[in-house]
Amino acid sequence: MTPQAPQSSDAKPARIMILATGGTIAGAGETGTQSGYTSGQVTIESMIAAVPGIDKLADISGEQISNVGSQDMTFAIMIQLARRINELLAADAADGIVVTHGTDTMEETALFLGLTVKSKKPVVMTGSMRPSTAVSADGPLNLYNAVAVAADPQSADRGVLVVMNDRIHGAHSLTKTDTTAVETFLSPINGLMGTVAYGKIQYFRTPFRKHTHKSEFSVDGVNDLPRVDILYACVDTPPDLIDASVDRGAQGIVIAGNGNGNMNAEAVERAAQAAKQGVVIVRSSRVSSGKISRNVEIDDDRLGFIASDELNPAKARIMLMLALLKERSLREIQQLYYDY
Ligand code: ASP
Repeated sequence: MTPQAPQSSDAKPARIMILATGGTIAGAGETGTQSGYTSGQVTIESMIAAVPGIDKLADISGEQISNVGSQDMTFAIMIQLARRINELLAADAADGIVVTHGTDTMEETALFLGLTVKSKKPVVMTGSMRPSTAVSADGPLNLYNAVAVAADPQSADRGVLVVMNDRIHGAHSLTKTDTTAVETFLSPINGLMGTVAYGKIQYFRTPFRKHTHKSEFSVDGVNDLPRVDILYACVDTPPDLIDASVDRGAQGIVIAGNGNGNMNAEAVERAAQAAKQGVVIVRSSRVSSGKISRNVEIDDDRLGFIASDELNPAKARIMLMLALLKERSLREIQQLYYDY
């Protein structure tokens, strides 16, 4: 059975704008069964045309923002995307937004938009693991489901959502866990926001953190973000990697630490020196799930470090880049990781 076309409050079909940025969902290969392909080859018009029944869900229009594999996503494109979404929603030019995006850095853009979009209206990201030319391409159904979610008034005020493989994830919690499998995104700590099957939606929860219209972050007047590097901790981490970041002008360093955000003593010592110089050190983890807590094996209070709480290194970096747009104390930055 085709789901009922979701209605906006004035009983007309919801107006959904699809903003395309590229990714495997817009990717193409020579044949349907080869593993090699190129991301960002297909336009938004062809992507919409490939989804039977999508026009029954909503009044759809599309706009091409970029056409890149998300490994080539840039902060310039992310800022442009956030501004365009804010503009469309503030002008009431759409009832909901769908963003198509590569899966490699989807979680980073999701968090960025979740912190900088200023609206309660649904903003839903989607992508695919198989290119548009593949046998059993997953993009068309993901796009169908994403439009259904964006068109449903129940999706309002849930922050930025990501719809992939029948799952609805929150921007704060989701992470990519498999390099190639269709079921790649998980929300390990907080669980799914809901599910969507052929446009039929079931929600389980709302976000636990501040987001979108309640966020203090903004891209207004922002053209550049401060440099924040990520240091991947491992056995015998060379401490001079920290010096390299500081010398290159990093204002912050996120440690993808062992376990609960740990590092070898020498690297901790070097990071503490950088913290004394004013570089903000955030401890996250290379482990795929779990919270980073303060003052467990590392004395954050004494060394002047921040714990990323639930954010993985890539997301902790996005948060810190936005946080550093304004002067804040370490205590205030720590609080941001608890609030958002
Ligand atoms: N490399 C691709 C991208 O992120 C992978 C994908 O979209 O699934 O654009």
